[in-house]
Amino acid sequence: MDKKRPIYLDYHATTPVRPEVLKAMLPYLAEQFGNPASRTHEYGLEAKLAVDQAREDLAQCIGAKSDGEIVFLSGATEANNLALRGLVKFLQASGRTHIITTAVEHKSVLDTCAALQRDHGLEVTYLPVRGDGTLDLALFERSATSKTGLISVMAANNEVGTLYPLAEIGRIAEKAGALFHVDASQALGKVPLDVEAMGIHLMSVSAHKIYGPKGAGALYVRRRRPRVELQPIITGGGHENGLRSGTLATAQIVGLSEATKIAVREMKKENVRLTGLRDQLLKGLRARCPEVQVNGTLEARLPNNLNVSFPQIDSEALMLSLRETVAVSNGSACTATDWKSSYVLKAMGLDEGRGRGAIRFSVGLLTKSGDIDAVIDLFAEKVAALQSMVAKYPSPRKELAGRASESDRSSH
Ligand code: PMP
Repeated sequence: MDKKRPIYLDYHATTPVRPEVLKAMLPYLAEQFGNPASRTHEYGLEAKLAVDQAREDLAQCIGAKSDGEIVFLSGATEANNLALRGLVKFLQASGRTHIITTAVEHKSVLDTCAALQRDHGLEVTYLPVRGDGTLDLALFERSATSKTGLISVMAANNEVGTLYPLAEIGRIAEKAGALFHVDASQALGKVPLDVEAMGIHLMSVSAHKIYGPKGAGALYVRRRRPRVELQPIITGGGHENGLRSGTLATAQIVGLSEATKIAVREMKKENVRLTGLRDQLLKGLRARCPEVQVNGTLEARLPNNLNVSFPQIDSEALMLSLRETVAVSNGSACTATDWKSSYVLKAMGLDEGRGRGAIRFSVGLLTKSGDIDAVIDLFAEKVAALQSMVAKYPSPRKELAGRASESDRSSH
């Protein structure tokens, strides 16, 4: 790879596997390849030991009481599906068939909730957010009824980085007698997470957002006070206490645990560095493009997130023109095939133009201050060039609309 690669500022989409993690994983892909479920020989036992250690370490990182509360699976999409779909029987049996979630969750929560409404007749309330992406806790209090069985809220939003007050929502869930599920995909290793202290009963995590491998994740499932009664969505050999059948992916599991341990250990120091880079980017963009608008609050926000809109500029055009130099996104990568503006920004009440102009920057492990300076220069130049084009040529849509109304007039 001789060619200089674009500067990567899309760490919310995914991250590279860090060398320490890769080193920890490699033996379990090669010489220690045993199946952790093989109890009759050395190969299986050494793999099982590695999985047991990973389970214990991950449980400790999130404040779980017991390592038996960790279910290893393929990532946060599956974890969210297991948490929500796995509760259907329990919710129906207890007569608590109402779920509260928010309009800005990841699609793996929103689409699963829609499926539960459609296929199982559950009732789902999608709470709105404020213009700055924050949640109104009074809305949770008001929406919770004696029928509410589950509250599901993300720890941090993947587009605008807004952090949600988990401990407070946990208290509301407890008061309502409902279970509390948290999608912590973007928050693990960036924000302190303690399932016991925050009143969390189920929590989804993913390895590839924290310099671990893709295709690895876990669901925390509380076993005591209360014991969460979950049904599997994948059946088979009965692995993971019957909650997720399938041969355990030893190397992926070791990678998830190693990545989590490092991220949690280095969180405080790394967050200071990331915040510095993010603020440098914002300061530079504001200085060079004064009309830039920040989407989402700057107060309760992931340290590595910046989401901004450039008025009159379509983010697709901007990203395309910078494709060879900067890798960013204009929303969740998981919906990147959809060219409409982001549903998260819409839920925040931002107009179509601001939504279409939004760029999501996320800084990370390999980002250097010099990269930020270069990105500020590149964006400032392109934004100015595109804005002068917009000023010179009216948008095709406006032009066509103008012509149509002219022909309307002339035909009368
Ligand atoms: N939830 C959130 C908030 C996410 O950002 C993502 C990843 N885009 C997921 C869930 C899905 O995670 P995974 O890629 O591990 O399935």
